[in-house]
Amino acid sequence: MSEDKILNGKEVAQAVKDRVKVQVEKLKEKGVNPQLTVVLVGEDPASQVYVRMKGKACEKLGILSNTIRLDESTSEDELLSLIDKLNTDVSVHGILVQLPLPKQIDEQKVIEFINPKKDVDCFHPHNVGLLVNGAPYVLPCTPAGVVEILKYYKISTEGKHVVIVGRSNIVGKPAANLLIQKNRFANATVTVAHSRTKDLNAITKQADILIAAMGVAQFIKKEMLNPECTVIDVGTNRIDADNEKGYRLVGDVDFDNVMPYVQKITPVPGGVGPMTIAMLMQNTVTVAARQNDLLLEEL
Ligand code: NDP
Repeated sequence: MSEDKILNGKEVAQAVKDRVKVQVEKLKEKGVNPQLTVVLVGEDPASQVYVRMKGKACEKLGILSNTIRLDESTSEDELLSLIDKLNTDVSVHGILVQLPLPKQIDEQKVIEFINPKKDVDCFHPHNVGLLVNGAPYVLPCTPAGVVEILKYYKISTEGKHVVIVGRSNIVGKPAANLLIQKNRFANATVTVAHSRTKDLNAITKQADILIAAMGVAQFIKKEMLNPECTVIDVGTNRIDADNEKGYRLVGDVDFDNVMPYVQKITPVPGGVGPMTIAMLMQNTVTVAARQNDLLLEEL
């Protein structure tokens, strides 16, 4: 593997977590004990792993974490009444309801029910609106993680053509909203492609920075890119493998095919994945500070 091409998400995530740890200590000195409550409904194995990872990350940084596990059969009303309690509990700064939710529960309704001041995902329409307006309350975790990687490796987005493949509310759209903002870590010209895009290759070929967020294993090949491109692979897909687990994780980019051809690339695992949790930690501390009328940069 050509090490100098690799954008190491683990290293960047550690740098973010080191910063957050100091912020947590400073908040505690001011009497604020940041707390994140994660609600998990049902038994989805991937969700269980994510929730455990989030709890561990909190613990390491001195953030209080509480995981509430609810049965798969939990009704929408039961979940909403729990969120109602968390919304008004002043000791809870961040609320994260792990998605996906069982089908009897309307996800959008749940997202909109969370107190936007405690919305550590930046999923609430109020917070999405603030992001679009250029005055964000918190940043969406995965897209903010992408920006942190680019910042860390001094890859400017200023005036660059960033092509995002994928338009979900979790990755594609908020990434576009972040990167078109008028500030020096954005200022990009953004194209958002999706499954209805015509001649995708002609568009991806123009990318100075390509962000793949499709959920299609190893879809992006070198023929779709130009050699000056930096590739950020958000995709996390399980494919069958001859190992103990029976699967391995791959991105939306065909790494072995693309890596020798492009300038820089994030691996999977070890790229964007660790950043999402690091940015969640950052958001928890940000909302805890804001709920106490403190600004992190002034601590
Ligand atoms: P979604 O399934 O919600 O969205 C996928 C998007 O990709 C859609 O907009 C879809 O288009 C588009 N798409 C799918 N196939 C094609 C295609 N052949 N050509 C062009 N566009 C296509 O996924 P998410 O955004 O939630 O997640 C994307 C990937 O990122 C997944 O692998 C997920 O696991 C991973 N992920 C990783 C995170 C991390 O921390 N690393 C965090 C979140 C997600 P259309 O809208 O037309 O259907």
